[in-house]
Amino acid sequence: MELTGLADKTALVTGASRGIGRAIAVVLAQAGARVVCCARSQEQLQELCAQIRAQGGQALAAPADVAQPQDRRRVIEQAAGAWGSLDILVNNAGIHAEKPALELSDQELSRVMEVNFFSMFALARDAAPHMIKAGGGRIVNMGSFWGQKGVSRQLPYCVSKTAVEAMTRCLAVEWARYNIQVNTVAPGHILTEISKPALEDEKIGKDILRRIPARRVGEAEEVAYLTAFLCSDQARYLTGHLYYIDGGQAIAW
Ligand code: NAP
Repeated sequence: MELTGLADKTALVTGASRGIGRAIAVVLAQAGARVVCCARSQEQLQELCAQIRAQGGQALAAPADVAQPQDRRRVIEQAAGAWGSLDILVNNAGIHAEKPALELSDQELSRVMEVNFFSMFALARDAAPHMIKAGGGRIVNMGSFWGQKGVSRQLPYCVSKTAVEAMTRCLAVEWARYNIQVNTVAPGHILTEISKPALEDEKIGKDILRRIPARRVGEAEEVAYLTAFLCSDQARYLTGHLYYIDGGQAIAW
């Protein structure tokens, strides 16, 4: 079975310069979508778009800081204007701030909430009118299995990811009438720059692997396949839910 419904759809992917977002942009383009690739690193975006075009896909670099309201507005207009519609939003850009809660400043908490949660809401709110005009759309928000856990020194990240899940549920209910499906993807440990320091630390890395029933960390491409499925015709009755992709870690005793 091939995924259908992605050809000639325009997808805006945030955090596309590397890691999971980059893999999502590549896989969506392979499935026929026109991808608008957003992140702050202009050079990496240009290189990604060149790679997608070399493989026969369509891609546009949209450099932006999702924490900046004017950048968010510009990127939505750019995405909607590039090929005349905006059908898919993958809210993937994310950061974390590792710190004991006792030392956490208001600004540090706000910064993580701004990038990981508020930007996702603002982009969804501003993308939705374009989707409604087109008769429907898909939104995939990148959560984390840590959104359901209490993790020492990771309060901002965990809180932001729990907020993403709640936002997904509310938007899914409110926008079902517009044929917009909204879901959360919640990865476990995936080997990317954000997770590399922990995974490559001998002691921490070993401890993480011990907790994963699959006994390995995930690959960015594996998250991309799930995301592409959620954006396809085959997933048209799925909305409001959270999908773990974690080698069984979240359900293991
Ligand atoms: P990553 O390799 O660090 O990539 C993060 C991406 O977000 C980069 O493309 C970065 O691009 C972009 N970004 C960060 N701040 C931004 C900003 N202010 N404006 C625009 N773009 C911004 O991380 P990743 O592992 O691929 O993570 C992607 C998503 O998956 C995140 O939401 C993360 O929380 C989630 N996740 C990851 C894991 C994991 O184990 N890797 C597990 C669970 C959930 P620039 O620096 O170029 O702006």
